[in-house]
Amino acid sequence: MKISIIGCGYVGAVTGACFAELGNEVCFIDIDAKKIKKIESHQSPIFEPGLDAFLERNASRISTSTSISEGIVGSDCSFICVGTPSDEDGSINLTYIKSASEEIGDALCNMKNHTIVVKSTVVPGTTEDVIIPILERNSAMEEKKNFSVVMNPEFLKEGSALHDFFHPDRIIIGTNDEHGRKVLEELYRSFPCPKLYTSIKTAEMTKYVSNAFLATKISFSNEIGNLCKKLDINVYEVMKGVGLDHRIGSQFLNAGAGFGGSCFPKDVLALISLAEKNGERPILLKSAMEINDHQPGRLVELLKSRVGDLNNKRIAILGLAFKDNTDDIRDSRAINVIRSLIDYGANITAYDPMACEPMKKKFPSVIYCCSAAEALKDADGCLVMTEWPEFAQLNHEFNNMRKKIIIEGRRILSCEDYEGICW
Ligand code: NAD
Repeated sequence: MKISIIGCGYVGAVTGACFAELGNEVCFIDIDAKKIKKIESHQSPIFEPGLDAFLERNASRISTSTSISEGIVGSDCSFICVGTPSDEDGSINLTYIKSASEEIGDALCNMKNHTIVVKSTVVPGTTEDVIIPILERNSAMEEKKNFSVVMNPEFLKEGSALHDFFHPDRIIIGTNDEHGRKVLEELYRSFPCPKLYTSIKTAEMTKYVSNAFLATKISFSNEIGNLCKKLDINVYEVMKGVGLDHRIGSQFLNAGAGFGGSCFPKDVLALISLAEKNGERPILLKSAMEINDHQPGRLVELLKSRVGDLNNKRIAILGLAFKDNTDDIRDSRAINVIRSLIDYGANITAYDPMACEPMKKKFPSVIYCCSAAEALKDADGCLVMTEWPEFAQLNHEFNNMRKKIIIEGRRILSCEDYEGICW
């Protein structure tokens, strides 16, 4: 099949490369010419383990464009993978979705039976009330009659996105259009996982509810972890016992610095905003966010209680990305921590295997180091903010700190003389 990918960030780059790996012809389209240049030279526009090799190996099936109207011509379907960030009030910002839909609409009049797949996360109602009307208006064509629309939410995790693409727990295909359904059935034919065929709105909602549930599970563990610490109980031992109950499951029970990234915080906020617009009081979702917002502050206060006045103290931050195996710092908990350390007058050294460059733009006053050892040297305290596997190997490096005060936000260290935020 011929597929165009609109938006080559974390989701678009992975989706396109994986569909190419499956033998499809893929055209990558992005308004960011730098990303397109990278793909042309078989390099991933974002850091995701294994993606460069996929782009290289499938180069003969890959083309690129910076223009939607040029790029989608001749393709059977287009995946919309543009960003859907939060507005100031937490509601979803549809600027990129709208402009991509307008351009697709303009191009549709030259195409027959094209299927548009919405992969971006959009709140229920967006595809039917915003995207389809724009497509119809700009193309002067009719959905179902002249083109098809499917909502197919994405569940990948950055850092293991290629594995997640090929081994999904489920695939949700939201459409009420027969042709669109067949196109997606064909595309996902080789996937053995459950495929759920739903209405468009149900598909949109399923994505939000999945993320909101996982975010709530993390906040629940953090609240319990905060209490366990006061009671001198190891929350990880507790959650091991809890997670072995199949009704609960062991994942996302890791207490720590809280959730960040480009999805959980913004998607929970968007769901809260949607609930309130519909006259509901999303008490649980708001609490999940509140607990999450407080965890970085707790980490800094714990450090302060051990180091004393942080003014002019040298504090090492290990980990800047919102999780391991990515260079993505969007809503990373390290951002809140750095901001508060700067307010306290601390001098910050930081190390992350992938995310120093993006963080430099946000906090130029931080000293970015090439290794954990360099960041730790002469530090008065250390905060671990990301679960990078290489941090598990650190040991003697901590001996070069001026004061060996190590506060763990992720429980990745294997050395013994540290203190956990919740344990
Ligand atoms: P991203 O910001 O990394 O990438 C979006 C890309 O779209 C950018 O490269 C941008 O230049 C491009 N773009 C914007 N407008 C465009 C236009 N008119 N034409 C062509 N390209 C355009 O975003 P992302 O992290 O890949 O997320 C994309 C969507 O997928 C969001 O809705 C997000 O919530 C959802 N999602 C993300 C993840 C994740 O882990 N990152 C997981 C599941 C779902």
